[in-house]
Formats: sequence, C-alpha cells, structure tokens
Amino acid sequence: MELRGKKVLVVGLGVSGRAAALLCLAQGALVRATDQNPAPPAAAELAGAGVALSLGGHRAEDFAWAELIVLSPGVDHRLPEIERARAAGAQVIGELELGWRFTGCPTVMITGTNGKSTVTTLVGDILAQAGFQTLVGGNLGRPVCDMAAESAAADWLVAEVSSFQTDTMELLRPRVGVVLNITPDHQDRYPNFAAYADSKMRLFSNQADGDVAVLCADDPQVWSRRAAAPALAWGYGAAGPQRPGGWLEGEELVLDVGQGPLRVKLPDGHLAIGFNRLNCLAACLAALACGAGAEAMERALAAYQVLGHRLALVGEKDGVRYYDDSKGTNVGAVAAALEALEGPVVLLLGGRDKDGRFADLGPLLRQRAAQVICFGEAGPKIQAQIEGFAPNLTVANLAAAVRAAAQVAKPGHAVLLSPGCASFDAYTGYAQRGEHFQELVREVIHG
Ligand code: ADP
Repeated sequence: MELRGKKVLVVGLGVSGRAAALLCLAQGALVRATDQNPAPPAAAELAGAGVALSLGGHRAEDFAWAELIVLSPGVDHRLPEIERARAAGAQVIGELELGWRFTGCPTVMITGTNGKSTVTTLVGDILAQAGFQTLVGGNLGRPVCDMAAESAAADWLVAEVSSFQTDTMELLRPRVGVVLNITPDHQDRYPNFAAYADSKMRLFSNQADGDVAVLCADDPQVWSRRAAAPALAWGYGAAGPQRPGGWLEGEELVLDVGQGPLRVKLPDGHLAIGFNRLNCLAACLAALACGAGAEAMERALAAYQVLGHRLALVGEKDGVRYYDDSKGTNVGAVAAALEALEGPVVLLLGGRDKDGRFADLGPLLRQRAAQVICFGEAGPKIQAQIEGFAPNLTVANLAAAVRAAAQVAKPGHAVLLSPGCASFDAYTGYAQRGEHFQELVREVIHG
C-alpha cells in the first residue's frame, strides 16, 4: 500500500488511532485525525509530529478531504460521515487492516466472543518458548500498527482481534486464524446475532493454500459456519477424536493434524478449569501450525502467568470464596464462569448493558445461583430478566453489591463478580472495576 502524499484521516485517537496516525506519517502521508473527545491523551504528541487535529467532534470537511479513512476499533463504521465519504470514493479500513499491510512477518490472529486475550498470550508464550522472535498485541496491548515497524525482524506477529476489527478488514489474511466461540455480545452494534457471528468468521475470508484455520468444533455457531474458512481447517473440542485437530484426554491435550498424535500435559490450576482447557487446545493448535513442538507447549503452559480479572480468586472468609471475573463482560462469559466454579454461587451482575440476553442464563442460574445481586445502570433490567430463576435483588452500585453478598453468602458459597456488562457506567474499564471489587472484598475479609 502506497501512502506517500496520500490524504489520510484517522478517526478515533485512542492507542490504536495514535499508532495508525504515526505509521501513516512515517510512510509520508498527509495526516489528519479526529475524535469526539476534546482532549484525547495522544493529542499533544500527534500535533507535535505534524498531524492536523479536529477534536471535540467530527468536521464534514475532513471526511470530504480524505482519500483514505482509518478507523479505530471503537468507532462505528456505519457513522453517517463515514458512509458519505465511502459513497464519494474514499477507502475506509480499520487500524488492524492498515497495520497488517505493513507487517513484514506471518501473523496469527485470534478472535471469538471470549478467551481471546488468554489464547493470544498463550500462543505468544508458546512461540517464544519454541525460540521464535514473536510480537504479541492487537486488541490487547500494542496495536498492530505500533508493532509493524519491528515485524520485519520477527518470525511471528500474534494479534487479538475484536469483531469490530473484522468488520473493517479488506485484504487481511492471517497465516493462522483462530475463532474460539461465538455467543451474543455487542448486540447494540449489530443489526442481529447472525451479523455479529458472520463478522467474526470474516477473519478467514482471504485465507488460501498454506494457511490454517483453527475453529472450535464444540461451538455450534462456529462449527456450522466452518465453510467460511477456505483454507485448511483444524477443529478442536472436549471430546475426540477430532481429526485434523485436537481434543482432551484426561489431563492431556491430544493434537492430531496428520503426522501422528502429539500429547501435551495440562498443568494444574487456572488453565485446567473448564473453558481454559479449550483455550489451551486452541492455542496449542495455532502454535503447532507455526511450527512449535510439544515441549515448548508444555513449558509455556506450566509457566503461564494468568491475566488479571479473569476468574481470579481474591480471598476467602468464613468458608466463602470471592472471585473477580470483571473481564466477564457478556452473558457467555458469565455462563462459563458459573460452570467453572464449584458449589452454590452468589453472583454479582451489572454495569452498562450491551443488550445482553440475561434470560439465557436462566437454567444455569436455577442450578448454580444461591442469590443474584444486580447493580449499576443495568441492574433493574437484569433483575427483570432473571426473575423466577434465582433469588435476586437490586442495589445501586458495586460497593452495595459486595456488602449484600457478604451478608447472604454461607460457608461453601462462592461470591462471583462476573458482571455480564461493560463497566463504563461507573469505571474507566474492566480493570478499574476489578480493582475496586478486590478492595471491597479486602474490606470484607479484614473488617
Ligand atoms: P476476551 O479477550 O475475549 O475478553 P479473556 O481471555 O480476557 O477473553 O477472558 C474474558 C472472560 O471470558 C473470562 O473472564 C472468562 O470468564 C471468559 N472466558 C474465557 N475463555 C472462555 C471460553 N473459551 N469460553 C467461554 N468463556 C470464556
């Protein structure tokens, strides 16, 4: 892609937009950038580097000027300004697509509703253990545009991809693509569930001979769409044999893609819990497609540093365990967390709703929930949807929810924050919400 002298407008100036603007500048483009936020953190740096900024809103003039529009993942590609520019002949792509075009090594890209960050970091760790020079980022950590300049010296670039990023891809072709699972999420951004699911499967659309698609065979929404992967497809699931692909046998993962089965021992602890076993299978298959062996896989799994706020045990008091799953921001993640814990659960649900279908949790709540405590902006809506499935109440905020949970929980119960919602009604992100939960739990534990 030739950017020299090209008029580029970057929309959204978070970490991805910043990286996209800097890449375009380095390639000799004329760069403008716009953000609804009047003072995005990167503004001074970009202005100093020569980017013309339009902040606090979007100006029609910038969109009319641009030959290429680069969207940050958080920006809805159906905005009227963008539609108009597209109709007038501007090219519109996402930051991931742009970064991929300037990437000088093969890529592994991972998407799905849940488990993306876990699998992305696992693949990165396995490839590093196998001795490959590896860059890891995307939707998690460093944007691909930020890593592109270093990628010529790397063996692999591993990226987490959100569905917003597959919406705005064009030529992007991962050497290894992974789709983990598809359950309803972000229904506020898609006309219907099928559109969201199809968007995730677009990750495979440009793959061809020599590429590998790794897909979860246990997820009917993924597996029924496997024809969307024109390349070699490897499936994985709990039960086997699954050939070519992988499955679970006791404490081992079995990978069989045609050269005889490879066995990988799962470590005890966090990676051995239900959904993480499947995450390990997906990661090992992806790493196998890159040339990693079983030894590197075992070493990486054994040394894996669990990411925070993903079903993390915070502490225990009077036989009640408290878990922080603040990253559980959709109904599918809540279900996975409930299934992974033992014993009755006091579940804390709430935050900013993304049109979640909480009634889908009904049967699981009936079996597993001793009490549901709804909180935050979405609290009353959630309570109305789960009425009849489990004892429930609604409180104003997370602090009140933790206090209420501590009162109702009995020895043997788990108190679980797996909110099924975004955090932006009260926090800057899931991490801040999780930190606050942990503080509140420490107050309960230490009095
Ligand atoms: P993502 O990056 O897709 O949000 P994470 O790896 O950060 O995924 O995990 C987010 C949450 O999703 C976890 O806290 C857990 O509750 C849930 N989760 C993780 N892996 C899976 C999976 N394979 N299936 C269902 N839920 C999962």
